[in-house]
Amino acid sequence: MTAEPMRKPDSGAGIIVAIDGPAGAGKSTIARELARHFGLLNLETGAMYRAFALRALRKGLPLDRAGALETLAAETSIRLEPGDEENRVLLDGEDVTGLIRNPMVTDAASRVSVFPAIRAWMVSLQQQLGAQGGVVMEGRDIGTVVFPHANVKIFLDAAPEVRGQRRYQQLGRNGAMPPPADEIVRDLRARDDRDRNRADSPLKPAADAVLLDSTNLSLDEVVAAAVQIVARRLAAADSTSAPVTPK
Ligand code: C5P
Repeated sequence: MTAEPMRKPDSGAGIIVAIDGPAGAGKSTIARELARHFGLLNLETGAMYRAFALRALRKGLPLDRAGALETLAAETSIRLEPGDEENRVLLDGEDVTGLIRNPMVTDAASRVSVFPAIRAWMVSLQQQLGAQGGVVMEGRDIGTVVFPHANVKIFLDAAPEVRGQRRYQQLGRNGAMPPPADEIVRDLRARDDRDRNRADSPLKPAADAVLLDSTNLSLDEVVAAAVQIVARRLAAADSTSAPVTPK
């Protein structure tokens, strides 16, 4: 099990920005824009769960077998490399970035992520990745479990119908035929329920997270709000915090 970050040479800031929230709330876009704005690395932790889910599917493992999944995890290597548009994910050295966004892997990722041993492994990889700071990390448990001392925590949410509609448009890009919108909303709700109700590190805002509801906001407005939240938190932080240089 290895995690090897690839850092931008000019990434000077030592801060950690945690972005959590349910599926389809816009976390990836916001994290990417914050990373660009503040010169940070953008790390999508969901991609790691997705890569492991792909491995389990390829192996034909039942996704409810904690022990078998744990054994598989012990012989699996997942690497996450930051990129300008999206992270590159290496599964046992194979670039699986283009293979982990389909509905089957999406559903499987949500299922394998309920198991404490899988989460403990992922959390430890993620802590290694972010150990030096200078990162925006997005997921479900970043502000609560992975980096409870993150400098800034944002919990990004939106109404399920709005998240479903956004996902529908996203999936329909490049002329692809997306599933019906109501099916997408149903799947989002099922994943949300699993994430919010699992016993180990359920999806919930950290006590000190700033809640950002994007239901009635355009993408530009959400990005502007998130940039303002980070800038304010950094300005308010005590002088021991590492300096950040907005671009
Ligand atoms: O964010 P993304 O949709 O790529 O995540 C895929 C799945 O991985 C989620 O549905 C969630 O169940 C799980 N996940 C998690 N904790 C994280 C990131 C993702 O449980 N930090």
